[in-house]
Amino acid sequence: MDKEAELKETGTVTGIYRELEHWNVNKGDKTIHAKRMPGFFRTIKNYTQSLYLLFFLVPYLRWNGKQAILFDITNSQFHFFNLTVLPQDIWMLSLLLLLLAMVLFAVTSVASRAFCGYFCFQTAWTDWFVWLENKIEGNPQARRKLDAAPWNAEKIWKKSIKHFIWILISLFTGISFSVWFVDAYGYWNDLVHFRLPLVGWVTLLTFLFGTYIMAGLLREQVCMWMCPYARIQGVMTDSQTILPAYDFRRGEPRGKLQRKAVEAGGAQGDCIDCFQCVQVCPTGVDIRDGQQLGCITCGLCLDACDSIMDKVGKPRGLIRYASLDELEGKPAKKLYQHPRTWVYIGIILIAFGGIVYGLTHLGSVVLKVIPERQPMYVSMSDGSIQNKYELKVLNKTDSDVRVAVTAEGGVIDQVIIGAEKPLLARHGRSTSFTIFVRAPGRNIKMAVTPIEFRIQSVDDPLIAAEYKTKFNGPSFDLGLIK
Ligand code: SF4
Ligand code: SF4
Repeated sequence: MDKEAELKETGTVTGIYRELEHWNVNKGDKTIHAKRMPGFFRTIKNYTQSLYLLFFLVPYLRWNGKQAILFDITNSQFHFFNLTVLPQDIWMLSLLLLLLAMVLFAVTSVASRAFCGYFCFQTAWTDWFVWLENKIEGNPQARRKLDAAPWNAEKIWKKSIKHFIWILISLFTGISFSVWFVDAYGYWNDLVHFRLPLVGWVTLLTFLFGTYIMAGLLREQVCMWMCPYARIQGVMTDSQTILPAYDFRRGEPRGKLQRKAVEAGGAQGDCIDCFQCVQVCPTGVDIRDGQQLGCITCGLCLDACDSIMDKVGKPRGLIRYASLDELEGKPAKKLYQHPRTWVYIGIILIAFGGIVYGLTHLGSVVLKVIPERQPMYVSMSDGSIQNKYELKVLNKTDSDVRVAVTAEGGVIDQVIIGAEKPLLARHGRSTSFTIFVRAPGRNIKMAVTPIEFRIQSVDDPLIAAEYKTKFNGPSFDLGLIK
């Protein structure tokens, strides 16, 4: 049965999909020169991609005289305005990565590769590079002509200026990536004086060449053949997932516009075979062949087709965001009817809750108290009992803090020895102190008495931490202690 007959017979979308071998699969053997057209989805794409301005600008934001957001790998710290996250709190970063992965999965299960089309750095950088190419070399037709032309002065000039600007953007991308990890102004100073460390040069050159090659030369080939996300997205989508889809029922049989035939009630579908949808596609996909690996869900073909439908006086939406079930006339499920989406949302909420808990319980200082085990206590000549403790004060702020040590609970009339003056906790690390607690033997009623230590900054009372532990006393000869 041929495909046309199959469509009539089955009325299904799958029934009209062409055989794979007939598809125009982009194998990278020719450069895609996509046409740029204004439209609703192009505008959205411009806005979402402009979020990458934050990537370039945020590292220069200062807060209290320091870089507001800094992944300080050298000192194993992450600074976020007033907050400093040390390696001890790195579990929050794991939760953040889990949350981002689940958001990506949830979005994919609902709207396919919307991330690729609107937010991915590869497609964003490629889009900007192609925009520049369009400005320098002209529209797709002019670019194809220039590619085929012999090397003359005009071609050398245009190609040189294009590649020069691409390299400049790639260089700035490498610099912008690097300054998330070191002080931005210090980095520029080291860069212009050629004083970057080896790792700095390696990072910069890797990003320079990586950006230039991937966004300028490989472009859509990265999305089609190199990106692992493109490979695994198939397991996250189903026939209810919304994606750019060509309405076969409405569009076929396609053919050049023949007004007379249409007016006479001819069998022509709404697709006038103008190829605008293919010409604007940044990955060279013909969406009329059905959903394909190369489609990054950018919606640019929707804009193109809608503009054609406007011109020929047909309703918009011949290509539209729709699920395959919807195109086949099956009832669409509501969002809450997708169990998989609920699983993703559940994991997102748990990860988000963990991060919020972590941030709200982070504290500026963390106290840990380790009682001496050998011996657990010492009997003094005056009949008092003394315990030895190691105080570990982790100071997460970016300045040294002087802390006073007190204790609650414990034994009546106990005294703390070794913390008569405030202790100096160095910033960004853990500082250890040894202290003693001495208590009159006659006041000790239990072999183990709960005691809670508290440290508090003498300069900022809000910087404080507590730790519960034990005061050990004699267990068998309590009655002998006077
Ligand atoms: S833009 Fe629309 S009408 Fe033109 S070829 Fe594509 S689907 Fe057909
Ligand atoms: S087929 Fe349409 S939605 Fe898919 S990548 Fe091409 S232009 Fe974007």
